[in-house]
Amino acid sequence: MKALLLDLDRTLVDVQSFTDYEASVVDLEARFGELPGSDIPETYWRPATLRAMEVLVAWAGDPRWQEASDLIEAHELAAVEVSTPMPGVARFVDAIAGIPTVVVTLMGPAAARAALDRHGIDLPVIGRRVDLRPKPAPDQLLAGAELLGVEASACTMVGDSSWDHGAAVAAGAGFVGVGSTDFPPGVPVAADLVTALGLLPAS
Ligand SMILES: [Mg+2]
Repeated sequence: MKALLLDLDRTLVDVQSFTDYEASVVDLEARFGELPGSDIPETYWRPATLRAMEVLVAWAGDPRWQEASDLIEAHELAAVEVSTPMPGVARFVDAIAGIPTVVVTLMGPAAARAALDRHGIDLPVIGRRVDLRPKPAPDQLLAGAELLGVEASACTMVGDSSWDHGAAVAAGAGFVGVGSTDFPPGVPVAADLVTALGLLPAS
């Protein structure tokens, strides 16, 4: 492992539990009417969280994507103010100092930066954006590897969701799950970030 790709939400910081994705779906329906579906992985998120992300996956490359993302991000930004650190995050971030690392998240870019800043996590971040298909597509992870100047195959992704795992597999990166049981058999999974340190490849 030459580099790390880290999910943000419920991996480093919990914003998701405080984000009113239910209201974001109401906003999307009010603006766009019937919302599209997409073939997305099962995961443990609340139905409205999954629905909001499903719309962004379905509309990847569509002119409506940016406005939809902005409507959702308003709710994410509100939740950042009450977000909480995930267990072990400070120790984890200290331990990976010196390893090239980028945060790769489905959150909007302003909300993602604000969440990291609020919790003193000084790492670059690639949030969702119009020119990258969202996770579980590999695009965001490939952009992260490019930012670090390494191949995706030299990276290990750490994340809490099957969407992170799917994106890592699609990008050809390694993967360590953390804090959930959202993964297929055989995937290394740690209960928390400190334990995850012991599962990272040595080189
Ligand atoms: Mg997450």
